[in-house]
Amino acid sequence: MRELTERLRAFASPERVLEDEPMSRHTTFRLGGPADVLFLPASAEETARAIQAARALNEPCFVMGNGSNLLVKDGGVRGLVIEIGEPMSGIAVEGTTVRAQAGASLTHLAREAAAASLQGLAFASGIPGSVGGAVAMNAGAYGGEIKDVLTRTLVLEHGTPVWKTAEELHLSYRNSDVLRQGLIVLEAEFGLAPGDREAILAEMSELARRRREKQPLTMPSAGSTFKRPEGHFAGALIEASGLKGFKVGGAQVSELHAGFIVNAGGATARDVLDLIEAVTARVRADSGVTLEPEVRVIGEE
Ligand SMILES: Cc1cc2nc3c(=O)[nH]c(=O)nc-3n(C[C@H](O)[C@H](O)[C@H](O)COP(=O)(O)OP(=O)(O)OC[C@H]3O[C@@H](n4cnc5c(N)ncnc54)[C@H](O)[C@@H]3O)c2cc1C
Repeated sequence: MRELTERLRAFASPERVLEDEPMSRHTTFRLGGPADVLFLPASAEETARAIQAARALNEPCFVMGNGSNLLVKDGGVRGLVIEIGEPMSGIAVEGTTVRAQAGASLTHLAREAAAASLQGLAFASGIPGSVGGAVAMNAGAYGGEIKDVLTRTLVLEHGTPVWKTAEELHLSYRNSDVLRQGLIVLEAEFGLAPGDREAILAEMSELARRRREKQPLTMPSAGSTFKRPEGHFAGALIEASGLKGFKVGGAQVSELHAGFIVNAGGATARDVLDLIEAVTARVRADSGVTLEPEVRVIGEE
């Protein structure tokens, strides 16, 4: 057993400390090599202790949520991967404030807000990420983004939990100081407005209908592969280059929405990376626009 595993199992139950764990089980792309050690913390304290343990052994450490915006390379991830998920997914509503642990799903968060007749989070209901990942990425859809409703966030900074206001985290398009400074989101607080429960639920089901119609939700992917280039839409540029359905190995530009690369069966991370490169080169040649990946690439070849 690895020394890191032993140190984590000294304070966490063994089924939450996994060795050589295939990341294909932890990403919505359903691909990626193994993490040396993958840990599912059940509290902020466990998260901090795990980071300390990795640091003491000089092992690298990566924090993830639901793996819905990750492309993990085929050689896997060295050191420790901390997945903040179900064991840290509490949600509490107090007045017009909703507080959620980082591992809560965004969809669950949006449903709880709607159930309490609070509006402002309907846009988030179909985004398959965790609260932590959504704050880190400033996730957004259909005219809304996390930045609009986030009030403050409990982050682990140099091993200490500190509350930061939303302004202090400088959320911008699919970016924030959480990513820029390598902070770890433990909890987030959202300030919502009173609303009509039926109207909020109707809005959520309308957005879900639009997603089902436009996005390849039945195939594994990491959502939009590319960021929206200024003044353009990535999907429209890719489609205009005739690349809908274009394949490299098991990776394919979705037939339904060219902005999504899907795992059409047995795709490797190498296939996806080669396809990203081919699409970027063709779109640049055809339109002069350079696409930038939105998916976060981690691990080794
Ligand atoms: C079908 C589909 C549809 C999607 N639609 C949308 C959409 O409409 N809008 C949108 O914005 N995104 C969309 N996405 C992308 C994705 O769901 C979001 O980016 C989401 O916010 C990622 O959350 P996650 O928990 O899965 O993060 P992960 O993929 O696990 O991680 C993403 C990044 O966040 C960091 N991170 C995760 N958790 C934490 C934490 N607790 N503390 C610090 N850093 C953390 C990771 O280090 C990584 O850099 C879609 C994805 C899919 C598969």
